[in-house]
Amino acid sequence: MGQVYQFKVALKHRKKLWRLIEIEGNQTLRDFDRIIRRAFQHDLDDHLSEFYRGPIWKAGGLGEINPTGGGPGAKKRIDHLGLAEGDKLEYVYDFGDDIQHFITLEKIKEPAEAGAYPRIIAQSKPRYHYCEVCDREGKKTIAIWLCIACSEEEGRFVYLCEDCFMDEKHEDHYAEEVLY
Ligand SMILES: [Zn+2]
Ligand SMILES: [Zn+2]
Repeated sequence: MGQVYQFKVALKHRKKLWRLIEIEGNQTLRDFDRIIRRAFQHDLDDHLSEFYRGPIWKAGGLGEINPTGGGPGAKKRIDHLGLAEGDKLEYVYDFGDDIQHFITLEKIKEPAEAGAYPRIIAQSKPRYHYCEVCDREGKKTIAIWLCIACSEEEGRFVYLCEDCFMDEKHEDHYAEEVLY
């Protein structure tokens, strides 16, 4: 087994929202891409992504990765990138929405468990939003959905739990899953 690389990945526009990810050196940017998508609730089956050696667009891109697993960046091995502890990368998911992430290589270490990588070992402390419908009834329920249609109509953020979002009021409403 190769060494394990521990990366901290944070959203560029919500820096307090991060995930600590371990990946083996002999795994690829494709593997890294998949776990970042899962960690940040990005669509696994849609949109291109790419890692960069530094600031996105300015630094050299490591090659696009497409959702089906191909693309010039997909097969590059983590331990062939020449990274040292403290090095920074950036990652963009979806060249349309342009969701940017900061990545820092925190540690290179010996593996603890065979076959357990890549994996998320820690994440930022969630700051929950609560369902406003439940809240009116005196219940604290963690919101899963941000109803975009209601938010735009009412000019504020409308957060809802799963049950309340299922209400027919929101039947045709587009919503985004809240990321914690
Ligand atoms: Zn509710
Ligand atoms: Zn709604």
